[in-house]
Amino acid sequence: MKLRDIKDLTREELGEVCRSRGVPVFHAQQLFEWMYRKKVFDFSLMPNLPVKFREYLKTIFYFSEIKVLKKEVSTDGTAKFLMGLPDGLAVESVLIPERKRRTLCVSTQVGCKFGCKFCVSGLNGFKRNLTPAEITGQFLAVEKDTGEKVTNIVFMGVGEPLDNFENLMKSVAIFMDNRGLEIGKRKIVISTCGFVPGIERLTETAPGLRISVSLHSADDKKRSKLMSVNKKYDTGKLMKALKKFYEKEKFAITFEYILMSGFNSSERDAVALSMYVKGVPHKLNIIPYNPSEHFDWKAPSGSEIGAFVNVLKSRGVFYTIRKPRGRDISAACGQLKAKV
Ligand code: SAH
Repeated sequence: MKLRDIKDLTREELGEVCRSRGVPVFHAQQLFEWMYRKKVFDFSLMPNLPVKFREYLKTIFYFSEIKVLKKEVSTDGTAKFLMGLPDGLAVESVLIPERKRRTLCVSTQVGCKFGCKFCVSGLNGFKRNLTPAEITGQFLAVEKDTGEKVTNIVFMGVGEPLDNFENLMKSVAIFMDNRGLEIGKRKIVISTCGFVPGIERLTETAPGLRISVSLHSADDKKRSKLMSVNKKYDTGKLMKALKKFYEKEKFAITFEYILMSGFNSSERDAVALSMYVKGVPHKLNIIPYNPSEHFDWKAPSGSEIGAFVNVLKSRGVFYTIRKPRGRDISAACGQLKAKV
């Protein structure tokens, strides 16, 4: 029989394994504590589990490991990790230290299907989904490498998290588990390009997580030029899904808006954006475009940013401007891809 990666299972699923063997379910809790708290990945070193049960576990499970292949540290402290996956592929994760916070930006897929016209993650196409163990494995590898706790998780690395829904939700369950990695749900953000079926599924599941939407234009024509997802799920459909999400979860929705010089930075664009975001309680993050050799877009100048946000201000829309982090090591938003 092919062995399964034990870190693909939530605590509930491990509880099922216990039940099926007629051993008390609290052993699932102990398994979680060994792996995620004590970082022990060897059944022989888990003495509080019955010997017979441990023997059984060895016949069905193995422990995978995500390895740091390369680490680059930016002058601003941001660190980019190239993570080796068991099958030889790789993804990137980024650690962003900020006062007391240590936020990890994790990947959910190898490559990306969505091919947004400003993001390098989709340039080499889509390879495959990451497993739950490969998603949480990025976290374990970073904590092991740095010796420090990660406090926040953002699903803003390579891939579209909501397009890998089941594995995403399992990884979230393990991140949030109080016997697991113990990250509070308020400290987890799922970022989406506006994949409406995924937002709807998330609304049904209602895990209490925050979402962030990569909007980049409130004008359907322009948005479709940038993001092919908009051809199927336009800004109207997107807003409808977001309103339902809000009704259920009652968390403000974050909108991300990459400001690209001369494309979506006019007064008209700012007016359209102001009107759009008012459709739902929100936060707005303006991200000056991070240049890449692969695209011709240009970063906005300081005065362009100023003029744009003045329109927002005059219309009573609150916003923050995201400081680029790790640009010198290509670790900033939209600069991540997988290369080995
Ligand atoms: N697929 C998800 C998760 C990736 S998040 C999503 O689209 O939200 C990556 C974030 O970086 C997104 O907000 C994306 O729009 C943004 N981004 C991509 N390319 C960028 C660039 N060149 N400059 C600034 N931000 C960029």
